[in-house]
Amino acid sequence: MADGCADCAAVQTQVVLDGKRLCDRCADRRVAGRTGWPELPDPPAPQVVVGPDGRTHTMRIRLHRAPTGVAAEAVELGCDPGEGHQVRVIGGPDVDVPMLVEQLRLQVRDEIGTAYLEPNPLPTGMAAARPRGSRPAGLGR
Ligand SMILES: [Zn+2]
Repeated sequence: MADGCADCAAVQTQVVLDGKRLCDRCADRRVAGRTGWPELPDPPAPQVVVGPDGRTHTMRIRLHRAPTGVAAEAVELGCDPGEGHQVRVIGGPDVDVPMLVEQLRLQVRDEIGTAYLEPNPLPTGMAAARPRGSRPAGLGR
């Protein structure tokens, strides 16, 4: 984690590819170069949502390639690892990325806007709402 992205020296690295730590952008560029898939657009600005408790949640949005397609992920800023909200949606390899981001934004708003009586012990996100092995509705082909 210490040295930053091997290609551009960005501080934040989330991906290890060929044994090198890379930022999302550089990892995507390498994947696009090898697969012929188009590079993903830059992620949108963080999404700010006010929860039912009045707390403000700032969600950083990541876009990256997952083994089965494109993942859009929102991770709450300013929280310790394992704390805070995290929401993820996955589309097919040729998904409409702006549509995927919009679906993520709606999911984030629903997740954070819901007041649970107790902390939810189950995983959150679209995967949690679907039966095991099913595909996300409206995504992929
Ligand atoms: Zn980089």
